[in-house]
Amino acid sequence: MPKKPSTVDAHTLTIDTPPGHLELLDLTVRNLRASEAKLQQSEARFHSLATLSFDSYWEQDESLRFTQFLGSSVDQLGITADALMCQTGWDIPGVRWNVPERTVLEERLAAREPFRDAICSWIDADGARRHFQISGEPKFDLSGRFTGYRGIGNDVTDRVHRDDDQRRFRSAIDATADAIFLLDRATLRFTDVNDTACRMLGYSLQELLALGPMELGAGSRDYIGGIYDDLISGSAAYKVTELWLQRRDGSRFPVEIHRQAHRSDDGWTIVAVARDITERKEAEGRLRQLAHYDQLTGLPNRTLFYDSLKSTLVLAEQRHLGVGVLLIDLDRFKNVNDTLGHSTGDELLRQVSQRLMKCVRAKDTIGRLGGDEFALILSDAGNVHSASIVANKVMRAFRQPFTLEGREVTMTASIGLTVYPTDALEADTLIKYADSAMYEAKDAGRNTFRFYTEDMNSRMLQKCALEDDLRRAIEHDEFVLYYQPKMQVDTGEWSGVEALIRWNRPGHGLVSPAVFVPALEETGLIVPVGAWVINAACRKISNWEHAGIGPIPVAVNVSGRQFLHEGLAATIEAAIRRYRIEPSLLEIEITESSLMSNAEHTVDVLQDLKALGIRISIDDFGTGYSSLAYLKRFPIDKLKIDIAFIRDVTTNEDDAAITAAIINMAHSLKLKVIAEGVETLEQLEFLRTHRCDEIQGYYFSRPLPAPELKKLRQSSRVGRSGGPAAIC
Ligand code: C2E
Ligand code: MG
Ligand code: MG
Repeated sequence: MPKKPSTVDAHTLTIDTPPGHLELLDLTVRNLRASEAKLQQSEARFHSLATLSFDSYWEQDESLRFTQFLGSSVDQLGITADALMCQTGWDIPGVRWNVPERTVLEERLAAREPFRDAICSWIDADGARRHFQISGEPKFDLSGRFTGYRGIGNDVTDRVHRDDDQRRFRSAIDATADAIFLLDRATLRFTDVNDTACRMLGYSLQELLALGPMELGAGSRDYIGGIYDDLISGSAAYKVTELWLQRRDGSRFPVEIHRQAHRSDDGWTIVAVARDITERKEAEGRLRQLAHYDQLTGLPNRTLFYDSLKSTLVLAEQRHLGVGVLLIDLDRFKNVNDTLGHSTGDELLRQVSQRLMKCVRAKDTIGRLGGDEFALILSDAGNVHSASIVANKVMRAFRQPFTLEGREVTMTASIGLTVYPTDALEADTLIKYADSAMYEAKDAGRNTFRFYTEDMNSRMLQKCALEDDLRRAIEHDEFVLYYQPKMQVDTGEWSGVEALIRWNRPGHGLVSPAVFVPALEETGLIVPVGAWVINAACRKISNWEHAGIGPIPVAVNVSGRQFLHEGLAATIEAAIRRYRIEPSLLEIEITESSLMSNAEHTVDVLQDLKALGIRISIDDFGTGYSSLAYLKRFPIDKLKIDIAFIRDVTTNEDDAAITAAIINMAHSLKLKVIAEGVETLEQLEFLRTHRCDEIQGYYFSRPLPAPELKKLRQSSRVGRSGGPAAIC
C-alpha cells in the first residue's frame, strides 16, 4: 500500500508563549492549519495526478534506498510497498536488469545525473514476465547536498512485446530470400525495402528509397502505373508476373514478382515481392535445349523440326510461297557403326551435319530426325527445280570422303523430296511423302534422290494396309505352314522337309512369303510370327513321329531380325521341350546375308543355338559374300546353294563352275551341301555328278500342305524307293 508522505503535525507543537503573544500564536496556528490543509490538498492532487499519468512514483534517499513508492505497479510486482522500503533498485527480488543498461544507469546515478527510460523486468504474481520503464532525477537540498533520487515508473510490458514482435518480424523480412518492396502508388517511389532487395540489386537502402521500379528497368512510368491501377481496381492480371530487373552495375536478371495493393491513410501502398529466378530460367533453358536439340550435332531434333516446319507452312500460306522438304538418309550407315564403332559413327554424323549446314541458306532449317536421318526445310523453294538444286548440292557434299580417326570413309545418302503446296499441305503428310520418296531412292540403288509421286502414295497405302492386316493375321491364326521335301541324291530317300510359311489373307487367297516376310521384318512382327513357325514345326515333328510316319527332320527359316533377337534360343528350347522332340530333328536355315551382317556377333549366337543340339544351315548360299575365315568359325552343318546358280547350271558355265566350287568347298569344310530350286533331271544329274548331297525343288516335290505331304510320304514309302518315282 502506498505510504503517505510525511507531514508537519501541528497538534504536537508545545510552545512556551510569552504573555501578549497569544494572538500572534493563534494566528500562526491558524496559518499552519491552513498550510497543512493546502499541503494535504496538494498531496491529494499530486497523488491522483501520479496515478493518472504514470504507474508509480518513487523516491530514494542518498543511499538509493526507497523511501517512498506510490502506484499500482507495486501490486503487480507481487511485493508490498513496505517491503520495498529500504531496498535499492538492484536488490528487489525477481527484478532483472540487462547488463549494458544497468551499467549506463549505474554511471548516471554515480554522477548524480537524471536518467530516462531505463528498463528492468520481473516475473509478476501470475508468473508472466513484465517490463518496467523508469525515469528519475537527483534531489538536492537547499545547500546543494545530494539527498537521493525521485522518479516515475511505467509498466511497458505490452509495448516491449509489440516492439519485440516488430523486431522479429523485421529481421524475418530482412532474412528472407525474396526482395520485398513497399512503394507509394502516387509517387511510384519505394517507401521501404528489405535487406535482400538491397543485396539483390546492389544498392544501399538510402539509394533504393530514392528510386522506383522504373529505375530498376521494370518498365515505363505509365506502364507500371497502369499495372498498379489494375491491381487496385481488383484485376488479378498482374498479381504474379515475370520480368527482368537491372542491378546497380547494369546487369540484368529475371524475377518473379507477386504484387498486392493495400489501402492506407496516405493512399495506396503497393507491396511487391520479387524472387530471383535466374537458376530456374537456366534450368528451363537447359531442358528446352535437351527437349528441342539433338545433343550429338546440336541441330534441331524431330520435335523442333516439326514445329519449325509447321510455322514455316503457316508463313508460306500467308505469303503464297512454296516450301521444299528433303529427307536425307545415310546409306549403310550401320556398317560404319558395326565396323568402326559407335563413337566413330557419332563423329561421322557430326561431320555430315556440318556439311549439310553448308548446303542451305540461313533462312532454311536443318534437323536430325534420329539415327542417320536428317531433314531440310527449304523455305521459299516451292518448286521441283529449286528443291532438286539443293538435293544435288547435298549429293555433291558427300562426294569428298570423310576423315574418321585418320581413315578416309566414303558415305553416300539417299534423299526423298516433297514440295508444299503441290504434294501436301500438312507437315506430317509432307514428311511422310518425303519418307516414301527417300525409300524409292534407296530401292533405286541408293546415292540418289527421288521426288514424291502419287504412285508412291498408293504403294505406301498398300504397305500400310498390309501391315495392319498382318497384325490381325496373328490374332486370327491366318498363317499356315507348307512343307517341301528334300532328297538324298545318292539314295533318293527323303532327308527331311523345309517348312515354308503361307498367309491365308482374307480376300487375297494364299499369299507368298516373298510378299509379306519383308513387311514382317520391317515391323518386327517377324519375332512373334517366327516363334509361331518354330512351335508349329516342332509340333509337326512330334505329330508325324506319333503317327508313325516320322521321324522327319524339319527345317525352318529364320530371318535376319529374328536371328538377332535375344529370345530366339529360348523360344527354340521351349518348343523342343514342349513337344518333347529330338533336337537334331529341328534345323534352322539362316540366309548368308543375315549371318554376315554382323559376323562377330553371329558366331556367338550360332554357338548358343548349336548348344541346343539343333542343326544349322546357311540358306541362299553364294549371294552373301561370306568370308571363308568366318565360314570356318561358324558352327554350321550345311550349305544350301542359292537357286540363282541352279537355275542355269546345265547351260551357264559360270553357274556350273560356281556350283561345283561350292560343293567342293563345303565338303572340304566337312559340311553337307544341298541345292535348292532343282526342277529338271539334267540339273539333278549335274549335281549327282558333282557329288551334291541333297536336292530340293519342284523336280522332287513342290511345297505341300501337311495332309498332302503325309500322303506323299506314305505313298513314297509304299512305292519305294523315293527319287523321281515318288515325285508328284
Ligand atoms: P527359301 O528359304 O530360299 O525357300 C525356298 C523358296 O524357293 C520357296 O519359296 C520355295 O517355294 C521356292 N522353291 C522351291 N523349289 C523351287 C523350284 O524348284 N523352283 C522355284 N522357282 N522355286 C522353288 P517360298 O515358299 O515362296 O519362300 C520364299 C522365301 O520366303 C524363302 O526362301 C524364305 O526365305 C522365306 N520364308 C518362307 N517361309 C518362311 C518362314 O517361315 N520364316 C521366314 N523368316 N522366312 C520364310
Ligand atoms: Mg529356306
Ligand atoms: Mg533359299
